[in-house]
Amino acid sequence: MSMSDDTKPQTEEPPLTDAVPSSSPPLEPTPLTPWQKLKRLLTPGIVVLLLGAKFLGKLKFLVVPVLKFLPLLLKTGGTMLLSIWFYAMNWGWVFAVGFVLLMLVHECGHLLAAKQAGLKVGAPMFIPFMGAFIALKDVPPNAWTEARVGVGGPLIGTLGAAACEGIFLATGYPLFRALAYTGFMLNLFNLIPLAPLDGGRIVTAVSPWLWGIGLAMMVALLVTHPSFLLFLILLLSLPRLISMFRRKTADEARWFEVTPAQRWGMALLYFGLIAVLVIGMRMTHIAPNAG
Ligand SMILES: [Zn+2]
Repeated sequence: MSMSDDTKPQTEEPPLTDAVPSSSPPLEPTPLTPWQKLKRLLTPGIVVLLLGAKFLGKLKFLVVPVLKFLPLLLKTGGTMLLSIWFYAMNWGWVFAVGFVLLMLVHECGHLLAAKQAGLKVGAPMFIPFMGAFIALKDVPPNAWTEARVGVGGPLIGTLGAAACEGIFLATGYPLFRALAYTGFMLNLFNLIPLAPLDGGRIVTAVSPWLWGIGLAMMVALLVTHPSFLLFLILLLSLPRLISMFRRKTADEARWFEVTPAQRWGMALLYFGLIAVLVIGMRMTHIAPNAG
């Protein structure tokens, strides 16, 4: 047998290898036990692994924020682009971009309200033809908090639509008036007092009996404008509607408790927003024959 490769590592730096002292002559290898051979074979790999781990450890401070930001980029950015593409097929690119941005403004309203209430939330996600949502990672501790998070979206969303009308008045560019109208309508629709919609969450702190009105509105809408989206909302509203007729446990009853000031404050905000949105829609409505 020719000289084995085992002799070569003897010239290497001593750390970790204790099998052969480095002072021994390179050409006269001392016989190695299989265990020593294995150790030598593995040592460079272990060193590389250790160095790699150390390097990654340092890199962690760079990698972790990027990884944290990635879902936001993929979810919000990716789903936003998909939504824009979907709406652009019907209404053209410019309008689609504006429409999706208005939805983003609405979602950011929820996000801000949730953060203010101390709830953990996920990044806004867009679903083409359905809208957008933010996922609450914490369950709202009571009806008041849920109402606050619910009203944040339409509140900021209404401001966003009003800003579009402001731009129209300043520039005369009709696209912005169309966006303002659509924005007002979008936020008004979401105020229908039925559970998965913002309105349903808001009126939980005003009077859950308003869900009945929401149900009647949704059924009427479904009859006059049949659509899968309306059907889905109706379906999703059922668990909460049914819960209204169920005897509540003490914990559940406590969840629904609001102070009179909170109840009246939320009612004022809710009905005030509806009034502003109806007026906004009338103001910005463009008659079809006016082009
Ligand atoms: Zn909303």
